[in-house]
Amino acid sequence: MQTISTVAEMRTFTRDAQARGRSLALVPTMGALHEGHLSLVRHAKKQCDVVVVSIFVNASQFDSREDLMRYPRDLEKDLDTLRPFKVDAVFAPRTEEMYSEQFSVSVEPGEIARPLEGACRAGHFRGVATVVLKLFNIVRPTVAYFGQKDFQQALVVRRLVEDLNLDVRLVISPIVRDSDELAISSRNALLSPEERRAALVLSRSLKRAEEFAQAGEAQAEFLRAEIEKTFAAEPRAELEYAALVDPVRLEPVEQVTPGCVALIAARVGSVRLIDNLIFGPPGASPDMLLQLALTARLMIPTAAAIPGFKTEAVRRSIEACRECAAYTSILMPPRDFLSQYIHAQYPDLNAPQGAVIGRDAPRNPDNYLYRDPAAGNRFTRGLFELLGVKSFDEFRARFILTDAIRCHGTGPHIPAKALGYCSVNLREELRLFPNLRLFVVLGDDAYWQFQRFMLERQDGEFPPFEDLLGSQGWASEQARAPSLGERILRIFYCYHPTYGYKRSPSIAAMLA
Ligand code: AMP
Repeated sequence: MQTISTVAEMRTFTRDAQARGRSLALVPTMGALHEGHLSLVRHAKKQCDVVVVSIFVNASQFDSREDLMRYPRDLEKDLDTLRPFKVDAVFAPRTEEMYSEQFSVSVEPGEIARPLEGACRAGHFRGVATVVLKLFNIVRPTVAYFGQKDFQQALVVRRLVEDLNLDVRLVISPIVRDSDELAISSRNALLSPEERRAALVLSRSLKRAEEFAQAGEAQAEFLRAEIEKTFAAEPRAELEYAALVDPVRLEPVEQVTPGCVALIAARVGSVRLIDNLIFGPPGASPDMLLQLALTARLMIPTAAAIPGFKTEAVRRSIEACRECAAYTSILMPPRDFLSQYIHAQYPDLNAPQGAVIGRDAPRNPDNYLYRDPAAGNRFTRGLFELLGVKSFDEFRARFILTDAIRCHGTGPHIPAKALGYCSVNLREELRLFPNLRLFVVLGDDAYWQFQRFMLERQDGEFPPFEDLLGSQGWASEQARAPSLGERILRIFYCYHPTYGYKRSPSIAAMLA
């Protein structure tokens, strides 16, 4: 692990990594490393070839000199913490290296930086945006990792990247909490034991709001009042703000819907702490909630009735999935949802050569049929064997796993209209991977959709699924998909592994 303290040395390091064709991750931190930072490091190690952690306490983002002075710093300890992770380099410049005496240009991050933290900490996000841009320019990462813990900061950085056309992908990771649910923060070290106990009011109040929301209470004002009430019972903590906002502009909402965020800041003794929570359906994983928030678009108030959807439960279920066809068609085109999601999941878009297209909606990524080959069914095991991969991560690096159908029909068949809507996303997604040549299309809905919308054949120009598969249980063909250009695709069709697959042979035999 190299420790780098100058800009020149850092640039040489990056140039060397680039020359060797390596993807480079940057995890920007202010040091005093803890499990929150380390979760970003783990993510980076998994996704990129070379990982750089920057450690720099950026004075310009502190609005109080006292806060800056007592911010915990221990470079040697941080280096010890990082060593077992086999991080490639730590970039730890001194302040003079980053800010010369003549320094005078800053980035003004605009609307998204105004409310909440921006309102409480004058100039904070100007400092953040400026140092992040500097770090991006110095380190030139392929992918940069940030935490949901600083939710507004993540949105500020996203605007920075999008508005200034920075060539870096962002990955945001969920909040890491201690066993008592306190969001881990470098500032927690400054709390006395009593203050630490009192600080639990932050996560407790958010949990309470979540419980109410999941029980059906959608009035943001009611939920906010509950947070305030929880704080009122904890005299050592003073709430600075509690806001329930949309995840796009961070403006207060009247009704809380999935993807909305509750953000709080509070003082416990003299320590200022922040925390947040993304609302979503019960049981949604932290990653799924983040996806909901980060991929949301401004939308018409969701209290409005959605034509054709009668029950509240269905409406909520649809809102919970931003990719859903029905939702897509009615409320918002999620044009770049997938590209953003996929960029986060696949730093090297050139790597995957094959795709499995099925119907296994990623509402909860942990439920992917493909995640655990040992526990999986014959199909998954065969597929892993065939590819010679042992883990889901390895599998995913080589194969895309995608969904033909993104609505919430649970019956065996999805209406043709919904399949049509979904195909817009599917085409966009597949187009992102220039080397895809092999497709495994699972089940009859995906088959019809693939024929109709990827191969762009008319009804009647292709046989019904059952006829095509016939008695051998599978079929294959070579064809061009107009949206994927000139390349010739090898396409295999078989029954879906959770539905009728017993009539298809082992995938290994089929693809061999
Ligand atoms: P900091 O050192 O506080 O500037 O944090 C560096 C990065 O780590 C930021 O992107 C933070 O959002 C992230 N981070 C800090 N605490 C946590 C946490 N408890 N969980 C996840 N990410 C975190």
